[in-house]
Amino acid sequence: MCGIVGYIGQRDAFPIIINGLKRLEYRGYDSAGLALFDQELIYKKTKGKVADLEQLFKSVEDKKGQIGLGHTRWATHGEPNDINAHPHVSNSGNLVIVHNGIIENYEPIKQTLLNRGYQFNSDTDTEVLVNLIEDVMQKEQVGLGKAVQIALNEVVGAYAIVVFNRQKPDEIVMARLGSPLAIGIGKDEYFIASDATPFIEFTKNAMYLEDEQMAIIKKGKEPDIRNIKDDRKIVPYIQELQMSLDQIEKGGYEHFMLKEIYEQPDVIRDTMRGRVLPEQNLIKLSGIDNHLNKFLNADRMIMIGAGTSWHAGLVGEYLFEELARIPVEVEYSSEFRYRNPIIKENDIVIPISQSGETADTLAAIKLAKQKNAFIYAICNVVGSSIPRESDSGTYTHAGPEIGVASTKAFTTQVMVMAMMALKLAKEKGTISMSEYNMYLSELASMPEKIEKTLQTDLYIQQVAHHYKDATNALYLGRGFNFPVALEGALKLKEISYIHAEGYPAAEMKHGPIALIDENMPVFVIATKKGQYEKVISNIQEIKSRKGKIIAIVTEGDEQVKNLADHVIEIPETVEAFTPLLATIPLQLLSYYIAVYRGCNVDQPRNLAKSVTVE
Ligand code: GLU
Repeated sequence: MCGIVGYIGQRDAFPIIINGLKRLEYRGYDSAGLALFDQELIYKKTKGKVADLEQLFKSVEDKKGQIGLGHTRWATHGEPNDINAHPHVSNSGNLVIVHNGIIENYEPIKQTLLNRGYQFNSDTDTEVLVNLIEDVMQKEQVGLGKAVQIALNEVVGAYAIVVFNRQKPDEIVMARLGSPLAIGIGKDEYFIASDATPFIEFTKNAMYLEDEQMAIIKKGKEPDIRNIKDDRKIVPYIQELQMSLDQIEKGGYEHFMLKEIYEQPDVIRDTMRGRVLPEQNLIKLSGIDNHLNKFLNADRMIMIGAGTSWHAGLVGEYLFEELARIPVEVEYSSEFRYRNPIIKENDIVIPISQSGETADTLAAIKLAKQKNAFIYAICNVVGSSIPRESDSGTYTHAGPEIGVASTKAFTTQVMVMAMMALKLAKEKGTISMSEYNMYLSELASMPEKIEKTLQTDLYIQQVAHHYKDATNALYLGRGFNFPVALEGALKLKEISYIHAEGYPAAEMKHGPIALIDENMPVFVIATKKGQYEKVISNIQEIKSRKGKIIAIVTEGDEQVKNLADHVIEIPETVEAFTPLLATIPLQLLSYYIAVYRGCNVDQPRNLAKSVTVE
């Protein structure tokens, strides 16, 4: 993963790069580094956060330079320490590189370079690559751009790289295969970054490199974009960014995660805007309208995703099967891509991804395309790789999600699938018109109901305080709320480091029940619709074994209140849309438990947001 920032122009590069790295820290944050060139090359790097790196640049002299590169790392090769941090510099001291991704065949290349007298300080694959480029420059007597191209044709793996030569500090060369790279185009200046957030206040004009493309950029000149394999020249496609600065700042909240939890009523409105039109009895999704026959004739949908997106896919399975009667399978992209999946002509493959860059999901799409599948992406980041690789799709419009633990991305993904399933149910006639109208107006009321759910915040803080010292937790739900239980458990473990597991409530009897004692908090989604009575029986079973019960219930519920240790009320809704509400208290619970435990909520250990490595 990792975040990359580069700059070439007439401003001081240091503040642009350091602030840009802070915005990209969600991508990795175990070490950071920065290189600048003025009269000479200055580079510093350290284990730790970008704030630690900033401390190393003390004097004005240190910060000079109008060309530079920065990196915030999520280690794949070599532990996070000062030496393995990027940038890496070639043996001659001329070439400086930052890299996101993995060079899979770095070992044999390293061996060849060692035989040729090269030395290595770090354990990274990246240091091998920069020396390979240098070796090509020397052997072939070519410039940096050509050397990068030749070298990349020798490597196997995934990368976004940005590199410059201190002997020719008027150009930067970059390339991508599998990991994202955006170029912000200013007047006589260029910004390079893993996503557009580092340069949003400087320019709205951006282009994204595609896989197998490289670019050579020089101040005051058009970028020279080429295909890495065949050197074909590519005409840049420059787009206008829609993002604004306040979308990527905390806006008074202590953490991005809390801000993003609270944004859910608004972003759910954005997801529905122009699409859910109750006064016209209509759901408008151009992605489906343009391919309606494909959907009407679909024999099966295969949802692919990772982490929280996979959980959203599971909710989608219940939605599409219940409402539109289309069989659904939900797969981890990392499994799907390696198991020769059976894909038939009338299958629709639905990749789900917040970032649109998840490496496994991208690879799974490529495989499905080879098998002639129709690909319909559900994605948040506009213009990212996954929607670009897909035949059609729907954007979630959740806005930038910066907290590593996904919150609003999940609910907006579920909302997109609810809209899709309902639209298809109407088109296919699998529900009656009166049911359709009821579902539609219920869907339209979701933002207000989420707002109401958020009012449980103060009470949730008390509950969180009560369970902050737990070492294990169970999450249970049935039907539509089973994936909510999985998502609740994931949220808790990823930010508070409490071991947590989600289960279908009835499945508890087949193992997890052995763990229940007076120290085990069990979070149960026990809303009125669905298999309410069955869940009550499960609660009784937990209570008999002295487990602590925290139940998410429909407002006004009395039955569960008499059994549970704590109840959190959510507004009443149809079973199919309960996940949109029941998820919210679980997000808040995880958030507050993690805060009480002193955890770094926005940047939990070992994680990164956009997983661009396998
Ligand atoms: N493979 C490189 C490393 O371990 C880059 C990892 C990243 O993408 O941050 O240093």
